[in-house]
Amino acid sequence: MAIVETRSLTKVFKEGQPGAVNNVSLQTREGEFLVFLGPSGSGKTTLLRMIAGLEQPTAGEILIGGAVVNHLPPRERRIAMVFQSYALYPHLTVFQNIAFPLKAQKVKKELHQQKVDWAASLLGIGKLLNRKPRELSGGERQRVALARAIVREPTVFLLDEPLSNLDAKLRAAAREELEEFQKRIGTTTIYVTHDQVEAMAMGDRVVVLHQGIVRQIGTPKEVYDDPADTFVATFLGSPPMNLLEAEDVIVGFRPERFLPSELLTPGGEQAAKNFQPQSVLVADVKDPLKRIPLRFRVEIVEYLGAERILYGYLAGTRFEKKLVYSRIPSSVLANYAANSIYDFAVPESELRFFDPATEKRIAPKAFQWQ
Ligand code: ADP
Ligand code: MG
Repeated sequence: MAIVETRSLTKVFKEGQPGAVNNVSLQTREGEFLVFLGPSGSGKTTLLRMIAGLEQPTAGEILIGGAVVNHLPPRERRIAMVFQSYALYPHLTVFQNIAFPLKAQKVKKELHQQKVDWAASLLGIGKLLNRKPRELSGGERQRVALARAIVREPTVFLLDEPLSNLDAKLRAAAREELEEFQKRIGTTTIYVTHDQVEAMAMGDRVVVLHQGIVRQIGTPKEVYDDPADTFVATFLGSPPMNLLEAEDVIVGFRPERFLPSELLTPGGEQAAKNFQPQSVLVADVKDPLKRIPLRFRVEIVEYLGAERILYGYLAGTRFEKKLVYSRIPSSVLANYAANSIYDFAVPESELRFFDPATEKRIAPKAFQWQ
């Protein structure tokens, strides 16, 4: 087990062009499952390859277990990496595939059986050792690739979108298995994905990357509930956080917090009757139960089984032209139809405030809805 640290790590592929990774400083914790999350091209793979030693940094340092490893070749970093397109050798059996790194590292032959058995049993593939890759399902191949990675007992695991070749159902199962496995062996793991649901589900903490820059590092709850900027706010969550842009502030709230007012307040009907948008002004959030009534002109209703997504506009506010979303659990039996207006509300404590110039999170401030 080991801690991985990067200090101002930078990679510029072509001089004069923007860096693929820019000034990234982060540190894993012992035995942690850390996720790099970001859209395609955000620098996730490049960052991982620098940690693995497969790519030379333009600037900055990489430390593993407290020691700078910039000068060390990959095999001396005691790291195992599983790539997006993990290729098993088709002509070799599962046993031979898993034993391959041992051979390459000149581990004594008599130790191979014992080590392969250990790795295979951890991944529950002990019965498949004599098969060829073509005789395996996608999920089984995935496990063989992982067994091959752990057989050398690495101190750090680097996984680059290892589940992306699996179909949705298998992917969910593989995700759980991988998480469970990682907790059992306790090896510090960095896992790369562009899938925010996967990142939230698997990560002890999530590093959100955009254009090679770390936008936020935090627990899934922190990055979701308290996004550091508007990029994080909209990259996480589907549909994303609603953002209302005014001259001096951007106000955001999550679609699942924007609900029919009778859901939010017991005397909701009365509150809805007293609806006066021009009187609503948000200052410091002192009363966590305070609701802001809003009139929601619904244009589209999407039924997704467990929930409905409503798309529409905030009638009678100055953001009338901005499309906003609401997510209503299907346990709410009331019917919501397109081309209708409903009384909705958002709790004041659920509002998030951002600076329009820097896009960074700021403290709550006075805000005019109309
Ligand atoms: P991600 O894994 O998040 O999709 P990458 O790390 O693969 O992102 O890429 C980050 C950026 O660096 C992209 O703009 C990509 O085109 C560029 N890049 C990656 N590898 C190379 C390379 N070998 N040569 C030049 N540019 C590269
Ligand atoms: Mg990548």
